[in-house]
Amino acid sequence: MTLIVDDAGSGDLLFGVVIGAYRKETGEFKYDLVDVRFYQDIFREKEYLQEAARVVTKLVAKFNLESDENIHICQGCIFDVAAEELQKVYGADRVKRVHVEGEAQRLVEIAYLDEIRNLGYEPLAERDEKRGKNFFHMMRWLRDNPGMLRYAKTGWPRLKNYQLFKPFHAKPIFNAVCSKCGTKCEVPFQPKADKTVYCKKCWGTHRSVRSQRSRKLHNKRKPIKR
Ligand SMILES: [Zn+2]
Repeated sequence: MTLIVDDAGSGDLLFGVVIGAYRKETGEFKYDLVDVRFYQDIFREKEYLQEAARVVTKLVAKFNLESDENIHICQGCIFDVAAEELQKVYGADRVKRVHVEGEAQRLVEIAYLDEIRNLGYEPLAERDEKRGKNFFHMMRWLRDNPGMLRYAKTGWPRLKNYQLFKPFHAKPIFNAVCSKCGTKCEVPFQPKADKTVYCKKCWGTHRSVRSQRSRKLHNKRKPIKR
């Protein structure tokens, strides 16, 4: 027998990720979720990989595998840690990375569609073929329903270019004291005691002096040939 593990929703803006396990021979199917919060402010820490591994381990355990039963797990990078964990527990020869198709893929997809419909969103029919169109369809829906942004993968770095997601990608601001004029100011980095910090005004004059100086240097370095 073979247990097939697949995911749905990893590339979709809405909701977390559905991870499903399907046993072909018996038709059994179970699924669980990687919560959307792993794709929000902590996305960069890549904790979703550990979470996916935890979810997969729990799901697989529910099937009480036969000693000769194999596990086929999707090649998607969301399972990179999960596959390693499974190989440790069940042995490398029983765990294989595959391209999941057919019934397993269909069932995981249905589970994901159910979850996003529960949010009140009606998915596009061609969701899987037209990824770009799907992305903008979900984004428009979020713009019309800003309260649902808490169910979106707002931590994706590429979203920072869209107005709707700017608040989720705001740079941290630190209080500092200008090294030149002594006024209180705000800077976009953690100020260090041994580093010079300029307020906006002093940075402006500092910068123009510096660029004048580098222009002079530049002229010296490259004398005009006659
Ligand atoms: Zn200053």
